[in-house]
Amino acid sequence: MDALEGHREKGGLAAGYFCTQFPAEILAGFGLYPIRLAEGATFESEREGEKLIRPDACSYCKSLVGNFRKKSGVFGKVDIIVGVITCDMMRRTLEVVRNESGLPVFQLQMPATRSRNSEEYFISEVERTANDIKAFLKTGFDHEKARRFYNARKACAGILDDIVSKGALPPVILHRLMHLFGVARPEKLKLFLESLQPRLKPGKGKLRILVVGSMICLEDDLVFRILQENGAGVIPVGISENGPTEFYSGIKLKSKTGNRMIKELAKISFKSDICIRQRPNFPAYRKIKAAIARTECDGVILKCMKFCDIWYSEKERMKQELDVPLLVLDTTYSDSEEERIRNRIEAFLEILKKH
Ligand code: SF4
Repeated sequence: MDALEGHREKGGLAAGYFCTQFPAEILAGFGLYPIRLAEGATFESEREGEKLIRPDACSYCKSLVGNFRKKSGVFGKVDIIVGVITCDMMRRTLEVVRNESGLPVFQLQMPATRSRNSEEYFISEVERTANDIKAFLKTGFDHEKARRFYNARKACAGILDDIVSKGALPPVILHRLMHLFGVARPEKLKLFLESLQPRLKPGKGKLRILVVGSMICLEDDLVFRILQENGAGVIPVGISENGPTEFYSGIKLKSKTGNRMIKELAKISFKSDICIRQRPNFPAYRKIKAAIARTECDGVILKCMKFCDIWYSEKERMKQELDVPLLVLDTTYSDSEEERIRNRIEAFLEILKKH
């Protein structure tokens, strides 16, 4: 956060984004400081957001509106916003955030299908958004800067994947580390991870739980805290998150010009981002099953935001398709839910111990 302040004090701008389908490398290529806005997840911000958007919006959307309304924390430190329209509620939220924050909001549509045409459409949406940002900033796109950002994040992704598969960190610490991936300067995070990795030992003999579902923000760590208190390990699997997995698992970026780089990044994002929302979504199931097999996890927790139909509507199919026990949780940011969630997770762990 100090580095972000320093960047802005020197006249630099910061770009807040939500869904990772719009590659942060494009923001870095414009000299922006990319910040994934996956924090500020509090009941207060949710209540504040409810003053402006429907109460049946998901907690994430409500907290975004609440935080931009209050300009709290990192939400007071972004200069532009890039939003991918993942659902109807996010589309409405971006409109309200634009009016509330007074900040320029660059938005693009995420295709609801997965096909050659929707890929072309998505790439054109990313290129259009990049051109709009370029016109707003009146500056060029530095593809070498974007490449350096990508390469540093790729290195971070490899180490994080190793840490996750070894089960080397307690759930809450791992959750925070995964969050850092979306906000940290990748070259600095790389140095930190390289210093941390050799000192970590593989986790032993614990129940291992794969956690998948809606966006999980920094403060929304109840599931991780309860798993940690019960001595269980966690495997966070960001499906529609170009986090430290698929997006960075490919080969090095090849492009030698700005326009080609933006197109290449959009293509990698579409091909690697196996969003549960895009139909057919069997690639998302393939990824979850691969993670279950690779990590030999004992069970899966599907953590849905309340009112997030995109994930909640998958629960029956997941029960049928996954060959390990599944616990479905429907959550908000309210503290009053802690006992209910705790009882459900502890009962689930008891079942797994008997398995
Ligand atoms: S969590 Fe679900 S409902 Fe909320 S913005 Fe994301 S996709 Fe939409």
